[in-house]
Amino acid sequence: MYKGFNFTHDYKALPRTFWSPYEPEESEAPKVVLFNNHLARLLELDEHALEDDAEFFSGNRLPESAEPIAQAYMGHQFGTLNMLGDGRNVLLGEHNTDSEKYDVVLKGSGATKYSRQGDGRAPIDSMLREYIISEYMANIGIATTRALAVVDTGEQLTRQITTPSGILTRIAASHIRVGTFEYAARQSKEDLIELADFAIERHYPYLSALEEDKKYLLFYDHVVRKQAELIAQWQAVGFIHGVMNTDNISISGETLDYGPCAFMDVYNPDTFFSSIDTGGRYRYKNQPPIGQWDLGKLGEALCPLFKSSEEEAVQAAQTVLDKYPQYYNRKYISLTGDKLGILDLDYEAQYDVQLVDDLLRFMFKYEADYTRTFRDLYLTNYDKLPMFNDSDFINWFEQYQARKKAQSAKKEEIDIAMNAANPSFIPRNHLVQKSLDLAVEGHYGELKQLLKAVSKPFNDKLGGKYTDAPGEDDADPNFKTYCGT
Ligand code: AMP
Ligand code: MG
Repeated sequence: MYKGFNFTHDYKALPRTFWSPYEPEESEAPKVVLFNNHLARLLELDEHALEDDAEFFSGNRLPESAEPIAQAYMGHQFGTLNMLGDGRNVLLGEHNTDSEKYDVVLKGSGATKYSRQGDGRAPIDSMLREYIISEYMANIGIATTRALAVVDTGEQLTRQITTPSGILTRIAASHIRVGTFEYAARQSKEDLIELADFAIERHYPYLSALEEDKKYLLFYDHVVRKQAELIAQWQAVGFIHGVMNTDNISISGETLDYGPCAFMDVYNPDTFFSSIDTGGRYRYKNQPPIGQWDLGKLGEALCPLFKSSEEEAVQAAQTVLDKYPQYYNRKYISLTGDKLGILDLDYEAQYDVQLVDDLLRFMFKYEADYTRTFRDLYLTNYDKLPMFNDSDFINWFEQYQARKKAQSAKKEEIDIAMNAANPSFIPRNHLVQKSLDLAVEGHYGELKQLLKAVSKPFNDKLGGKYTDAPGEDDADPNFKTYCGT
């Protein structure tokens, strides 16, 4: 049965070293628990034919047009290079709409050639978590893979506890990772060229006609810029990815792999949540430099394609990588300017730098909620700011108002920018956790309510528990997230 997916098998045309054929394992009694109607429409799929099709979303019964494979890749995990590959993902093919091409992947559908000790399965709460957070990212305009459906397989998994298993259907511009290039570079130069040309054709097709010495370097430059800008967007909304290993960094510039990610409530640049990130390598303030580190690994992998001598190639790669801070800062400053309503914010000017730094310092000192502080500045709810009675802050505030007035932008323009940069709602850790705990017990009401809120991140009328900062009972300074492997 066809179900409206218009599959081609582009990745399968790459040399065999990049993939392995693989059939999803049977699931005992699959049931669709979440289906993304809105995304289905974007994908030009027949939403009503698909929405209850647990046999498809579990991989139990795939259309003939699906040719499932697992992808090979390596990855620097917490700084150490390992052979990885899709241990629990299966790529069914690329779905083609009139204008776009998307990977369709089942995540959690069973063991593959690359599973190592793992069972290829996923705890359902971790798949539901990916659904919630990736939907939120999409709704605030941050590039991300998306979730089309989650099924409960009807089976239990043994982890620290026994838990129901789930399968997520993930839609992505592609699943080519920095780690895919690290893998290719360790195969052969021909393989590396094949992968690079494939990625260029897929994501940066306008580069494909260029001479080789320009093409690959510009490809690298584009990936560096996309990733720098993506991470600037994460910083602006307080998103902490949690596991920025090179195998989780997408060449397309989409946010990929939602294991232990979470949003920061109280502003503290040292925040991290992941239970396995014991040293805090991937803490909030480390995300921008770690992004550059990861892209350095991409540069190393691509070097053989750059110039004839190794020395020249390394030099060329370094020149591109050195542009990362510039790309990052440009985006970050622009977003910070939008957040504050100072559209000409200028980091060359000491005054502006000081203004932003001082605000962050007040937020840190008063343990202010990151999201609320900016939203309340936008809504002019100044009296709600926890630092509002501090005379130093009043001083800052007067300077801020004066600086805001000194720009030439019109009020409407400023309001639009401030609104768009300062969501009213983030999926708060305590709300996400509570909804997942209930869902694991089979109660999806709370989760569905949360998803409604996720679909309206700028709606102040949601009110109450959704838009407020967590109260004392909900704020958990020891909140931890898990990879969900
Ligand atoms: P992640 O931490 O999610 O980026 O995963 C790192 C690697 O572990 C990837 O190669 C995954 O495919 C693999 N992996 C994660 N969970 C499982 C599992 N349950 N079974 C097999 N492989 C897994
Ligand atoms: Mg991963």
